[in-house]
Amino acid sequence: MRTPLIAGNWKMHKTVRFAIELVAGLKRELYDEKETEIVVCPPFTALSPVGEIVQGSPIKLGAQDLYWESEGAYTGEISAPMLKEVGCSFVIIGHSERRRLFKETNETVNRKITAAISSGLTPIMCIGETLEKREQGVTDEVLRKQLDASLERQSDSNILKCVIAYEPVWAIGTGRTATPEQAGSAHAVIRLWARERYGKAVSDALRIIYGGSVTPQNVKELMAVADIDGALVGGASLDAASFCRIVRYNR
Ligand code: PEP
Repeated sequence: MRTPLIAGNWKMHKTVRFAIELVAGLKRELYDEKETEIVVCPPFTALSPVGEIVQGSPIKLGAQDLYWESEGAYTGEISAPMLKEVGCSFVIIGHSERRRLFKETNETVNRKITAAISSGLTPIMCIGETLEKREQGVTDEVLRKQLDASLERQSDSNILKCVIAYEPVWAIGTGRTATPEQAGSAHAVIRLWARERYGKAVSDALRIIYGGSVTPQNVKELMAVADIDGALVGGASLDAASFCRIVRYNR
């Protein structure tokens, strides 16, 4: 039985003041949520105050990235132990914006996953095809290649500590959501990959969440797909009412 996971990626939005306002609203609304695991991923500057507010609530704290070394002369970077210290239990790794704008590769993603798991953080590892690759009909190959390289040499127990986010690049921030059929087919490819490589038990337990223009209006039909275990939500996570409706997709 895989617990549904709804994670909000606030990207580079919300100063500390507005982050506090947003998370206080979420905490008021979601204080008794038990069925769904809830994660918010504010920008680095707001992690500590948001982490204090979510204490004692069902809301968990996640970061949007990390660096693989624990400490050292790496100007501008943040390490896994630093994220743990401020209360993070999750971290997004390899988001397509980081791959596209900041030249992250499957290899750096792999190193970051190892660092996250070593510090007890749950990585939410993002993969997904561009529109060009989808139109070429090579989505499945793209996903398999990203999985092979981003998770190369990771053990069974490490894979079980990861969440995979399928995020088609053409659906992120565009309002063009994947249909349940498109998302379901990609999630099935990911689960089959996990089964071939790690066996049935790992593949059955692995959480695979969907991201790309998820809204209160479309979340229910996406969550009804057998292989979709949750959602990574960008734009719609910036408003307390819409994020709460997404978390409560089944009510
Ligand atoms: C994301 O940031 O991972 C994302 C899916 O964004 P949006 O929901 O805005 O498409």
